[in-house]
Amino acid sequence: MNHQDLMPLPLTALDIARALIAFPSVTPADAGALPFLRDLLAEAGFSAQLVTFSAPGTPDVMNLYARFGTAAPHLVFAGHTDVVPAGDAARWRFPPFSGEVAEGQLWGRGACDMKGGLAAAVAAALGFVAKGAFAGSIGFLVTGDEEGPSVNGTVKLLEWALARGERFDHCIVGEPTSVESLGDTIKNGRRGSLTGRLTLHGRQGHVAYPQLADNPLRRLGPVLAALFEPPLDAGSADFDPSNLEVVTVDAGNPAANVIPGEVRLVFNVRFNDRWTPERLAAEIERRIAGAVGEARTTLTFDPTNAISFLTPRGAFTGLVSSAVEDVTGRRPQLSTSGGTSDARFIKAACPVLDLGLPNATIHAVDERAALEDLEGLTRIYERVLERYFTTPP
Ligand SMILES: [Zn+2]
Repeated sequence: MNHQDLMPLPLTALDIARALIAFPSVTPADAGALPFLRDLLAEAGFSAQLVTFSAPGTPDVMNLYARFGTAAPHLVFAGHTDVVPAGDAARWRFPPFSGEVAEGQLWGRGACDMKGGLAAAVAAALGFVAKGAFAGSIGFLVTGDEEGPSVNGTVKLLEWALARGERFDHCIVGEPTSVESLGDTIKNGRRGSLTGRLTLHGRQGHVAYPQLADNPLRRLGPVLAALFEPPLDAGSADFDPSNLEVVTVDAGNPAANVIPGEVRLVFNVRFNDRWTPERLAAEIERRIAGAVGEARTTLTFDPTNAISFLTPRGAFTGLVSSAVEDVTGRRPQLSTSGGTSDARFIKAACPVLDLGLPNATIHAVDERAALEDLEGLTRIYERVLERYFTTPP
């Protein structure tokens, strides 16, 4: 597709975001979103290529790598064009892939998470490179696999780029991090995530003959108490306390006169930098063993690629905070709360921050971004580029 057939230059973040929303790129479908971005960046002088990765048991995923310039320092923007499903389109005020503009808002799936943020970064970069020479490079790492299994996305794209000799000095992920107002929150780290599955085994029988059975639900109380108390930790300098939530308890038993043979629990822990997944798993195993004594249990943990990380406060966090303050007049707070993002993978290659639009409507019906915030975020990213290539951190 030639975007110039569709829209005049120069492109604003709104133009780009509307075009992106019109591609129904529900993970793992791309639907044209990444080729559109590739063409846009290539026309502006970026060296840009699409790379598809595969793995057994997961869908193939398209990714985009683009870079303008070859010199250091290299500031790279990262993000994703895939979106979560829209659900029942009839419940939306406007069709979810229409990119309707009404009441000062851009409506549609991905408006905030994160086609809007990506569009702001692309608009800022196109504007910046059009102004003339600068010392360094601007890159884009864009995946179509952030909302899915995250196997054929950023992890492999980074490996691919590093293997080709690409180097990154700093990265900004445009995920929606703002809470009350644009730029109020930058994420400089993320908690890790670990999911555990526990089965308490017993012996099925008639409720009238309990001596012939062994009800595993009798051990549920002590197990829950041991999982919840004492707290895993009291937090750390940059993180809230780690938190464990039991998300389901299931004995699979529809009959009131049957003692169930087993009960299954699933729990998820969002953990801070005091833990590795291995040490956390060992602590949980110890607690459960203490609660059930000799009774038989099966405990497994899902594989996780969500490890906690922190980008320490320093020149880079200061530069991005100052860019936000230039535009909004307010200094953002640095936070490590909330869910995880692809920043957890990029951390291995260079210091990384998440900074993007307000997140109030992400993954919801009637997802929408204020036009004012789209423009504001574009100005923030422009200020980041100006500051970065004037006084690199
Ligand atoms: Zn996202």
